[in-house]
Amino acid sequence: PRLYQLLVVCSVSGGGLLAISDQNSPIRSAFADAGYNADIKKKKVVVLGTGWAGTSFLKNLKDPSYDVKIVSPRNYFAFTPLLPSVTNGTVESRSIVEPIRSIVRKKKFDVYFKEAECYKIDTENRKVYCRSTQQNNLGGVEEFTVDYDYLVIAMGARSNTFNTPGVVEHAHFLKEVEDAQRIRRTVIDCFERASLPSVSEEEKKRILHFVVVGGGPTGVEFAAELHDFVNEDLAKLYPKLKEHVRITLLEAGDHILNMFDKRITVFAEEKFARDGIDVKVGSMVTKVAEKEICTKERSTGQTVSIPYGMVVWSTGIGTRPVVMDFMKQIGQTNRRVLATDEWLRVEGCDNIYALGDCATINQRKVMEDISAIFSKADKNNTGHLKVDDFKEVIKDICERYPQVEIHLKKKQLKNFLQLLKNSDANDELNIEKFKLALSEVDTQMKNLPATAQVAAQQGTYLADCFNRMELCEKYPEGPLRFRGTGRHRFRPFRYKHLGQFAPLGGEQTAAQLPGDWVSIGHSSQWLWYSVYASKQVSWRTRYLVVSDWGRRFVFGRDSSRI
Ligand code: FAD
Repeated sequence: PRLYQLLVVCSVSGGGLLAISDQNSPIRSAFADAGYNADIKKKKVVVLGTGWAGTSFLKNLKDPSYDVKIVSPRNYFAFTPLLPSVTNGTVESRSIVEPIRSIVRKKKFDVYFKEAECYKIDTENRKVYCRSTQQNNLGGVEEFTVDYDYLVIAMGARSNTFNTPGVVEHAHFLKEVEDAQRIRRTVIDCFERASLPSVSEEEKKRILHFVVVGGGPTGVEFAAELHDFVNEDLAKLYPKLKEHVRITLLEAGDHILNMFDKRITVFAEEKFARDGIDVKVGSMVTKVAEKEICTKERSTGQTVSIPYGMVVWSTGIGTRPVVMDFMKQIGQTNRRVLATDEWLRVEGCDNIYALGDCATINQRKVMEDISAIFSKADKNNTGHLKVDDFKEVIKDICERYPQVEIHLKKKQLKNFLQLLKNSDANDELNIEKFKLALSEVDTQMKNLPATAQVAAQQGTYLADCFNRMELCEKYPEGPLRFRGTGRHRFRPFRYKHLGQFAPLGGEQTAAQLPGDWVSIGHSSQWLWYSVYASKQVSWRTRYLVVSDWGRRFVFGRDSSRI
């Protein structure tokens, strides 16, 4: 039996019901405050996080039979793809955020929000432990618990420093709205400091040297935005400093944007070279000091020290401590993020779901499943399948695992598909060969990419499952497509890749769309504007973002240091 530990007492004033979790616990249950009437029949859904995954889940949850509680240290949703535009004032920070209370206000059922962070998940008693992010009137931090029947973990990730010394102390991250605001102020600070009369030429050069670490989409977009800001706006306001400004992009790998099509990588590197952005590949940062950054150059093996004025660190994401503790608790050690099955259920837990950047679908299991599908088709255990059967199996695998479909375009599998196409119907093809090709690609398809697109689709998918949960329980004989597998009553999550953008500055963007379609230049920039305007979470933010773009076209960017 579930341990609700729910005590119902009459409220003195209104005669309503007040829920208090674990009477003996010094930590009170949240939502037990006056005014909240717990309906014990409703299933309690607790959502941790108000980012892409959590918000998409909340927006799409329509079934009023849940009692929904949200816990997040951020009382708003932030449209992260526009964060680089906030760093230079192309878009204002308030234009890309929407209060979570406004988002859930339109729901036909009550949704409760607490601005707090979860610091522990107790799976045994189905409770999450939280502490507020603000001090209470006694000067302390309030702690409380929230009970759940279903827990949705959507806590995202944090910036990864790879334990490089000095990064936390001296570098800027670009993960949250506050980071973008801080970067904007620091850039202006650097220009103002370099304008002071006592500053030597050498020092000016150092102060106006902006270093970006990480040649992924965020680092590249930030470098491009900074270049535009400097050239289109700051150069006019600080004409004497223009010649001292330098932007360097450090990348440990061989190329920037290496997750994109080769054509985009080449175009971006050439464009940056023309723009004067110094791209250093094979350059691994070993230490960040107060005024210089140390790198180890792969080509020479030498350690180089680069003086800088501002460093932005954008080398990928790492696990949040609370998620790491939870992983240890449930035995998911030696993993980077929480492992779920294809229904987004955390492996080894009941009624706990994880989505977005803090989770990944366990691919090891996927490979095992793929082997099982082949074994089933290869009835005589010959290790071969006829061409038509092979095609059927591949179709089946792609339906279950959309990531395989994406990777069928990769060279190893493309060759195999060509062979399949050119073979006669009676030819038999080697299963192991296909699996080998797949496992070669597997190193790249281990996880779905950590993007807003994946997080949002997962949120929508999970909300859809929750919307139909009651119906499925009521009519268990209903159209349960996957009943035969005896695993779950909903179809597994399928990621639909809609393409990705890499803004490169100067009103040019690279777009890689499904079907290996690549478009680079000004037309893609307009596509980028349209997509990002349409993807805004509300009409208010859509209006604000579009008017910010218009303001920038007419008046340029604002360089006030506020
Ligand atoms: P997040 O959106 O990070 O949300 C996590 C939520 O959890 C937040 O509300 C946070 O406050 C909350 N939280 C944190 N700790 C706790 C806690 N202890 N308890 C409770 N709640 C907690 N993706 C794209 O697809 N396209 C892009 O163009 C793109 N551009 C990007 C640009 C930048 C600068 C950045 C940083 C990211 C970009 N991404 C982009 C990636 C995208 O933002 C992430 O993949 C996405 O935000 C992941 O969503 P999420 O819900 O998992 O996490």
